[in-house]
Amino acid sequence: MSHAVSPPNGEAIWEHSPAYQRALSNFDAAADVLNLDPNTASRLRRPERIMIVSVPIRRDNGKIEVFTGYRAQHNDSLGPYKGGIRYHQDVDVGEVSALAMSMTWKCALVGLPLGGAKGAIRVDPLSLSYTESQQLTRRYTAEIGPIIGPEVDIPAPDMGTNERHMAWIMDTYSQRHGRATPEVVTGKPVDVGGSVLRTESTGRGVVYTIEEAAGEVGLTLKGSTAVLHGFGNLGTYAALELVKRGVKVIAVGDVSGGYVNEKGLDIPAMFDYARTHRTLEGCAGADRIGPEDVLTIPCDVLVPAAIGHVITGANVNKLRCRILAEGANGPTTPDADVVLQRQGVHIIPDILCNAGGVTVSYFEWVQGGMNFFWSEDEIDQRLSNLLRAAYSRVRDFARERNVSTRTAANCVAIAKVDRVMRLRGLYA
Ligand code: GLU
Repeated sequence: MSHAVSPPNGEAIWEHSPAYQRALSNFDAAADVLNLDPNTASRLRRPERIMIVSVPIRRDNGKIEVFTGYRAQHNDSLGPYKGGIRYHQDVDVGEVSALAMSMTWKCALVGLPLGGAKGAIRVDPLSLSYTESQQLTRRYTAEIGPIIGPEVDIPAPDMGTNERHMAWIMDTYSQRHGRATPEVVTGKPVDVGGSVLRTESTGRGVVYTIEEAAGEVGLTLKGSTAVLHGFGNLGTYAALELVKRGVKVIAVGDVSGGYVNEKGLDIPAMFDYARTHRTLEGCAGADRIGPEDVLTIPCDVLVPAAIGHVITGANVNKLRCRILAEGANGPTTPDADVVLQRQGVHIIPDILCNAGGVTVSYFEWVQGGMNFFWSEDEIDQRLSNLLRAAYSRVRDFARERNVSTRTAANCVAIAKVDRVMRLRGLYA
């Protein structure tokens, strides 16, 4: 299957991807509301830098295989570039660039002194053995080495990567620079300079924003129902937090399928199962459906928690939820977005809903920089405060300007970056 983009003139290779076009459509909607200076807009519509690298590894069968890796840096006006590294078989330069842009808005919205970036390797992470995964991660780190660093660009986990990969990145970078440099990457294991709660933070943050949204729409979480599309790091921790609040999780989907139980799934058991088996394939206590079919199960709270653009013009009319909590990045296409707004679904946009991960990454970076680590309670409280404050900014903007929550979130973020760019001026 081809993933090549074919720009007419060899320039702007990211622009022709559907994922980047969707990011631009959201950006343009917000820029319109803000009446953004076209000069600023023309700068913000493009990433500042994209690096594309070839990453060779020796497979366990002895053969050399070369994978394509990316690091896209969208904007560093607010501080060093920040964003995760994704391992996925379908990722391309346009998607990485779109995700980098969304990191700029996410950091600005929460008020973090960080810019936006994203990295990726086009590989199916489940096809890699432990050794292959380590080789790939180390060689990718070496290849993007010239453009990352603790004050330059700080990677983190994303889909298909976790704290183990972050430890390898930390080690590879440190070896090459001759000193331990834990602050080059976040999402590390606690024993190698990671922060407590970083692993749980994205899912927990999702639930803090769901609490705020429930308050806004008058939904009592205790006894309500939720469905999760995705059961990786974000999905599992969000599900556990929902269960703690008395929410009945009636369906979850992962790569292996959809698992439904109208009486409520045993989430702690499924969490343990997914840990040991990598997927939910074969887990007990649920009826089996297709993974995408969980999206259309009637529920109070729907959490897309996997890949992007799963809610489209093709299935949006079948969705039955009151709150759409966008744990995944870019789960809703612009045409589906319009339909959901018309139906009165309350959307918690991705850059707000899943900002808990990068927020605790920021805490990890700060703690690593001063070699002083905070308690779990301190981190949880700071996370809750920052996310709820961001939520209020979005809610207030949406009400004052009568725009969607998505446009409001983008506006708050873009306005912040615009202010900083003006103050700093153009170096030319
Ligand atoms: N990959 C996560 C995101 O999309 C976290 C990024 C980070 O911690 O830097 O927000």
